Amino acid sequence: MSRAWQAVRPLLLPLLVFIVVFVGHMLFYKIVSQNSSPIWWRLYVLTQTYMISFSLALAFAFGAYALGKARGQSGKAVAGSAGVALLVWFTSACGAPLIAVGLGLVGVGFGSEALPPWVTAVLTICFISFGVYWLHRKGGACATACAAKAGENAGLFREIGVDLDKFGAQQCVTGELYERTFAAQQNRPAGMAYFDEMAGDIYGARMREIIAAKKEGRVVVGNFCVFVPEELTLAVDGISVGLCAGSQAPVSDAEKVLPRNICPLVKSAYGYALTKSSPYFQVVDFVCGETTCDAKKKTWELMDREIPTHVMEIPQMKRERDRDLWLAEVKEFKAKLEQQSGKTITPEALSKAVAVMDAKRGSLQRLNALRHHRPSPISGRDALLVEQIAFYDDPVRFTEKVNVLCDELDKRVQDGVFAAPSQSRRIMISGSPMALPNWKVHNIVEGAGAVVVNEESCVGTRYFSQNVAQSDEDMDSMLLALTERYMQINCACFTPNEGRIEQIIREYRDSRADGLIHYSLQFCHTYLIEAVRIKEACAKESIPFLAVETDYSTEDTGQLQTRIEAFLEQIGGQR
Ligand code: SF4
Ligand code: SF4
Repeated sequence: MSRAWQAVRPLLLPLLVFIVVFVGHMLFYKIVSQNSSPIWWRLYVLTQTYMISFSLALAFAFGAYALGKARGQSGKAVAGSAGVALLVWFTSACGAPLIAVGLGLVGVGFGSEALPPWVTAVLTICFISFGVYWLHRKGGACATACAAKAGENAGLFREIGVDLDKFGAQQCVTGELYERTFAAQQNRPAGMAYFDEMAGDIYGARMREIIAAKKEGRVVVGNFCVFVPEELTLAVDGISVGLCAGSQAPVSDAEKVLPRNICPLVKSAYGYALTKSSPYFQVVDFVCGETTCDAKKKTWELMDREIPTHVMEIPQMKRERDRDLWLAEVKEFKAKLEQQSGKTITPEALSKAVAVMDAKRGSLQRLNALRHHRPSPISGRDALLVEQIAFYDDPVRFTEKVNVLCDELDKRVQDGVFAAPSQSRRIMISGSPMALPNWKVHNIVEGAGAVVVNEESCVGTRYFSQNVAQSDEDMDSMLLALTERYMQINCACFTPNEGRIEQIIREYRDSRADGLIHYSLQFCHTYLIEAVRIKEACAKESIPFLAVETDYSTEDTGQLQTRIEAFLEQIGGQR
């Protein structure tokens, strides 16, 4: 999209509204004045009624502009924009007679009940100028920062086909959320600065790195599931990025195509691809989908129209023949990467990639173990942010930074510096993945004075618990070891799934939690149904249990807050 078109596009609707209202008011005047003369318009001009048409049309056009700016933004921004539009409308064209009456009451008269039309027009222009200023100022620091970020990388993003308008609006929502979630925390580890920087600049420096790597011919793969072996992508010197999306911003666009009653993760991801609003979706050479659930499985057919999509068939059981199926899928993925990159994966390259990924998982295991200290030296929100960044960052650098953070947390434990008072309730969260920037439940739990100490989730322990077992150095043995490592992941898509229940109870004990919140994304049937068995297992182990089902919107935040606070009360939580 050209720069000129991007500048002009938001003004088209207001212009159309202006013309329709202006002409409509003029015709209305003709009808009301019952002037059938062919030169009725002379009176229209002489009485300056055109000024009223102009004022009215300008006020309506501003309303359209303000609401257009707010579209896709946070509830606060929408309310603010609507408020400014109404203010302008009531205080200018529509409110002009009232203003005249008001002025008359304090002795400032204009000789008639209404203001002279030219005064109405001037007032309207003044109020709208203020409105435009307010909208741009009140879009806030976030909007300014977003625009600056988009501006910085605009050339690069345009090259990869990003819709900069959509990108800017969606970024703003994430920025506001980030401020609310993280800036409010006290006493954060200094090592979080790197992850804050990454989160705040997720479309900045890292994106530039990826685009530069792509220009050098490195393959970039987008993933939606922790089952996809990143080791193989690294073995062709490729870049793997997680595309599971946790933002509400693109959901409404996705719902124009997809049914509403599927999980928000799928809608959010598809919405980004459809609207070309995420540089990550635009930069990948292909995405790798899988058949874990119906929503994903069928969405890949549509996703393939936007971005080339390779699909891996994930078994739904864990028998010998299911492992063989997954091994065949892993081999096919390897072939796909080799064909895409033009490189052959050697045992040496794969061995090096396994070492990189094991080190990365090792650093996350270390971070998680540190959270098991009572009290925890790091908040659940910070730990979740680190886990989410794992899907975007360069794996070697990420590992180094997590280890630096862990060194600091070790020291905090020795010095008795903690993220929350020792009496704070400790909560483990289990269930559907929480993709960036989904911080909803952590925010509520920790906002209520508790601390999250473990995530049995695909951004949590399901991603990093198992390393690849040692194997012979030939390709077949290595691929088998890789396959077996991935088959240990306990996703709710498997049946039966005793392994996940055992894992949850084990992690609950290890993390010294005081209660378990099972979190399911709306319409995520596998996790929603499996929650029944987890509830039973928790009852057997006398573990306080709460199941919540939510999406990415803010609509149910109050209700969730009430339920979570009641749960914390029940287990003796401190506020
Ligand atoms: S929940 Fe299941 S489908 Fe989703 S990322 Fe995790 S393993 Fe993959
Ligand atoms: S959260 Fe559940 S429904 Fe959504 S993509 Fe993952 S498994 Fe499927």
